[in-house]
Parts: sequence; structure tokens; C-alpha cells
Amino acid sequence: MAEMREPIETGCPDPWQYMHPVMRKNFGMWKYHEHPRPGVLRHVAYSGDEIWTVKVGTQRILDVFTLRKLCDIGDQYADGFVHFTLRSNLEYMIDDAAKVEPLIKAVEDAGFIVGGTQNSVSMISHTQGWLHCDIPGTDASGVVKSMMDELIDEFRNANMPNRVHITTSCCQINCGGQGDIAINVQHTKPPKINHDLVANVCERPSVVARCPVAAIRPAMVNGKPSLEVDERKCICCGACFPPCPPMQINDAEHSKLAIWVGGNHSNARGKPTFQKLVAAGIPNNPPRWPEATAIVKRILKAYKEGARDWERVNEWIERIGWPRFFEEVELPFTKYHIDTWRGSRASFNASNYIRF
Ligand code: SF4
Ligand code: SF4
Repeated sequence: MAEMREPIETGCPDPWQYMHPVMRKNFGMWKYHEHPRPGVLRHVAYSGDEIWTVKVGTQRILDVFTLRKLCDIGDQYADGFVHFTLRSNLEYMIDDAAKVEPLIKAVEDAGFIVGGTQNSVSMISHTQGWLHCDIPGTDASGVVKSMMDELIDEFRNANMPNRVHITTSCCQINCGGQGDIAINVQHTKPPKINHDLVANVCERPSVVARCPVAAIRPAMVNGKPSLEVDERKCICCGACFPPCPPMQINDAEHSKLAIWVGGNHSNARGKPTFQKLVAAGIPNNPPRWPEATAIVKRILKAYKEGARDWERVNEWIERIGWPRFFEEVELPFTKYHIDTWRGSRASFNASNYIRF
């Protein structure tokens, strides 16, 4: 009997083969690192070896020609090793201090920027938008482009009290909207149902199960199986739109943007913190989203002027208190910012079990 071939493994390839040899050699044996200038990190190993990292901002959604250009720079001016960070920055790794300045010059001559390290505003992360997802209410990458054009100096220089992570997302379900400052979609009206299409397009039980507040019921409309929404219950989340596109919720006028602040993942020193709503009903206004950008800039200005060294946005707000925060950023604090609805414990899906 013929021998069976080895199974073909899929998934992430082994990262070791792509790692800079100095990093492989000194794995787990790093003594310290420092930040000689914005956009550059220097790691020193116990063996005395050094590795320099040069961080370059990219627009995340890269065409193949731009990617090749960045990789060619890596081949010519770095040691041929690059990797992408979680926020779509490109990092070149080199083992010689003398190569740092020529690499930075080559990158900047090609029209890219170096920065995004330590206490800077790193590249705004954004969700897939029109390119890969089927439910966006806005173009998250367009919001990022407009904002980063105005925040470029905060990326290039490390002048913030601490690192600032900004995120945007393109629907209200938010596959990626958690950060020090997050710009998220906010629907303000229930979905509008095209009853002629529901029976042909939607699996009605899936749609009914999808609603977090059990606002959707099966219904017969004009003799056809369809759905109805109890608009008094609907929280306008948009969760029914992905499994049932005839439940259209995106709207040029009523789909707005909202800004949340203070979200932070847990780390060795602190617990996670959840972001809180600070501005709602902001126009979803392409192509430059000036209203949302103006609020983000106000928040960053107040944080830069008021926070102590190494305080993150959430720590700064905790210290000065929310009333003072709203004063500093000149945003109104209204009753809509407070979610004290006690019934939510019984009716929201707070676990992975669907309840009705
Ligand atoms: S935020 Fe929403 S629309 Fe955007 S990619 Fe994620 S799931 Fe899709
Ligand atoms: S928008 Fe959300 S709350 Fe409203 S009906 Fe759809 S799933 Fe339910």
C-alpha cells in the first residue's frame, strides 16, 4: 500500500523562518530597549547584539505596487526583514546603527512617514469597510485618512503624555472599535423592511435570533412570509442587517458617528477598561468628516495639555473626573450618556445563550 502523504497544514506559517537572524539568536534574551528618536527603537541583548526597528506608517489597504516599493526599500536599505504591526505599520529590522539614517531617508523620499512609537498617536486602526465587508454604514478607512492627515505631526513626533490608540469602525456592531478614542457608527432609526425580498433572501429564524432585544417577530405581509420590528424595543443596533439585507438600516442622514473614549486592554499593570460615550449624533460626512475630526482634535489637545507624564487617556479622565473632562473638551454632557436602564440585565444578551 502506498504511503500516505503528510497532511498539508494550513494557517499561520512558522514565524521563525521570517525572523531577523539577530532576533532568532537572542530570542528571550533581551536586556533592555530604548527609544532614540520617534519612529525608532533600539533593543540590546545580553550577548551585546543590537537590533534597530524603524516604524513606518502605511495606509493599511495597500496596493501591490506600494507594498513592493516598501519591500524593495527593505531589501536595499535594511537587512531584508519587515513585518506589519497590528495597526498596519511596517517595521524594518536592522542590526547596525549606521543603517538607520539612510533607511529613514529612503522611506521619507518615497513619501512615507516614520513615527508611531512610544508616546505618539499611532496609526488609527480601522475595520474592513466597503472593501471586504457587506454591512458598513461608513467608510472607516476614509475617516482614518482624513483624521491622520490632520494628526500627522502627532504620529511623527512623540509629544503625547503616553501612547494614544485611536480606532474607527464602519458599522455599529464594531468588529474593531475599542481604543483610547474610538469613532464608531451610530444608527438612529430602526431598519426599514423590504417585504417583497425577505422571503427570497433571508432565513427568518436566524434573523429573529440575531436581535439582542427580541424586537423582531415573524409576520405575514401581503400574503408573503416576512418579518416585523417592534420599534419601541429596537435599539437600532443593525445586527439584523447582515443576515437580512432587506432590513436596510444604513441611511445617509440617520446613520451618524459617535465618539467613545477610555477603552484599554488589560496589561501587566492594569485591568481592562471599557470606553464610554462622549459625543453622539455626529454627521457621517464624507469625504473628510470635519465634525468628527474636530472633536477628536479637541480631546487630544485637552489630553496633551492636562495629563501627567505616562497617563493614558482613561487614567487622565479617572483622575480629573468626567464632569471636568466634558468641560475641557467642550462637549455637552446629557442624560443620554448614562445607561442606567435596570431592565437591560434581563433582556440584553449578556451571555452566548439566546433568550427571549
Ligand atoms: S465594523 Fe462592521 S461593517 Fe466594518 S468590517 Fe467590522 S463588521 Fe464589517
Ligand atoms: S436594529 Fe438591532 S435591535 Fe433593531 S430590530 Fe435589528 S437587531 Fe433588533
